[in-house]
Amino acid sequence: MSTLTLERNFFPLQNFGHSLTAPAYVFKPRCAEEICEAFELAGKTGLTVAARGAGRSYNDASLNGGGIVLDLSGMNRIINWDPVTGRVAAEPGVTLEQLWQRVEPEGWWPPVVSGTMFTTLGGCLAANIHGKNNFRMGPIGEHVIEFTAILPTGAEVTCSPNKNADLFYAMISGLGMLGIFTSITMQMKRIESGLLEVHAWPVHNLHEHLAFLFDKAPDFDYTVGWMDTMTGGKSLGRGQIHAANYLHGDEDPDPQKTMKLENQILPPRIFGVFPKSILYIFMKPFANNLGWSAVNTAKYVASLRAHTFRQSHAAFHFLLDYVPNWELSYGRGGLIQYQSFLPKETAEEAWRGMLNISLKRGMPSYLGVTKRHRPDQFLMTHALDGFSLALDFKVTNGNRAKLSAMLQEFDKVVLGAGGRFYFAKNSETRPETAMRFLGEETIAKFRKLKKRCDPNGILESDLYRRVFGNP
Ligand SMILES: Cc1cc2nc3c(=O)[nH]c(=O)nc-3n(C[C@H](O)[C@H](O)[C@H](O)COP(=O)(O)OP(=O)(O)OC[C@H]3O[C@@H](n4cnc5c(N)ncnc54)[C@H](O)[C@@H]3O)c2cc1C
Repeated sequence: MSTLTLERNFFPLQNFGHSLTAPAYVFKPRCAEEICEAFELAGKTGLTVAARGAGRSYNDASLNGGGIVLDLSGMNRIINWDPVTGRVAAEPGVTLEQLWQRVEPEGWWPPVVSGTMFTTLGGCLAANIHGKNNFRMGPIGEHVIEFTAILPTGAEVTCSPNKNADLFYAMISGLGMLGIFTSITMQMKRIESGLLEVHAWPVHNLHEHLAFLFDKAPDFDYTVGWMDTMTGGKSLGRGQIHAANYLHGDEDPDPQKTMKLENQILPPRIFGVFPKSILYIFMKPFANNLGWSAVNTAKYVASLRAHTFRQSHAAFHFLLDYVPNWELSYGRGGLIQYQSFLPKETAEEAWRGMLNISLKRGMPSYLGVTKRHRPDQFLMTHALDGFSLALDFKVTNGNRAKLSAMLQEFDKVVLGAGGRFYFAKNSETRPETAMRFLGEETIAKFRKLKKRCDPNGILESDLYRRVFGNP
């Protein structure tokens, strides 16, 4: 019998980019029973329910304006860790930070991580995140052995690639719209050192940028590109490629030392003095076209020398966490991230067009990140045999409508080039866009599963209503 009440639980929630606000009734369940209580309350009140992990999606994936939001960050126990087999079982609110800090000192690393360590496992599975090794290791879902989830009917399901396989491949990538993960069992990756060997090369234009990502991928465990998205003309798409390999055998003379947590954890201070937590305040004056153009040019000039160095796993993967709250430097309107995935054959032309449009309209992206990808078999997959480009756009009251129109124009370019989108990032994807890139058959399959798992349509988020709202 539910003891939850709505009173005094109504709070404004935001997306990671702080460009959206959606007040909701927020509950923080500690166990599966409390999730069921929230479903009961939803049934009684007619409200809908969305899950929220760490709220690190750039868009409205974990917002549910006027409805109930289940903040799962309190279900954060590592249930079982076996350092011999590298298998871990955890509750959905366990963050990647908790996970790597538990397994790394014993010679393991999460096989797939996002660019921030503050995401939760539940959120990572629901979005089916990719890392800088997507072309090699696939998305996180490929490393899940089994999970349990609570459906809005109150039923508990256990899914693996061999058991309830249809639900396994749909709930991973299903944005929490079919059920709520309550425990997740995953396989970690063996490492022989706490360091990666990283190579950095400058690339002088878009063609070279994509060719480098493509050519280097087979020889490396990880590749990622930074793109100066504020310079056009012949230098459009210039930037820097980083590619990294694990160290093996005696390449690391003292792996016990490099795998110690103290040699992985990102320092809280810059130069040992300046607290990083306030750095974003000093970035604010630069968060305009002129400031970011200068930053991009300086970064490009600094990257012109090819070099090789060794870096801890945490430092390589979680670069964005070096500056806590960096997203706040974008100011009141926040930021929108637009990530498109394009086949390797069409990416160059499509992105050339999009980047030129953004420069011409005076709404350039301040940060561009490229990755190499391969397809996977999850129902709502965003991946394909090609590349992705993530672009960060500053939102202001003055540009909000123009920016939205430009990004919808980009959607058309991406669709025309056979591309796909990622539901954890984009804020503009419309139902007809999703229908085009996912295909009628996939959407019909998703809706059928939704009816089976959630017959009364209790699980909804702002994203769900935006993209799948009107069947
Ligand atoms: C700085 C930064 C860098 C990033 N880098 C990458 C990257 O490299 N690769 C990448 O793929 N993504 C990346 N992301 C996106 C991020 O990994 C995803 O948005 C991820 O889903 C966020 O996890 P979260 O715990 O914050 O989930 P939330 O944002 O809170 O939720 C995301 C989705 O998961 C659902 N959900 C949450 N918990 C559960 C649960 N227990 N059961 C069912 N559904 C649930 C929510 O309803 C929502 O649909 C990045 C984000 C940031 C802010």
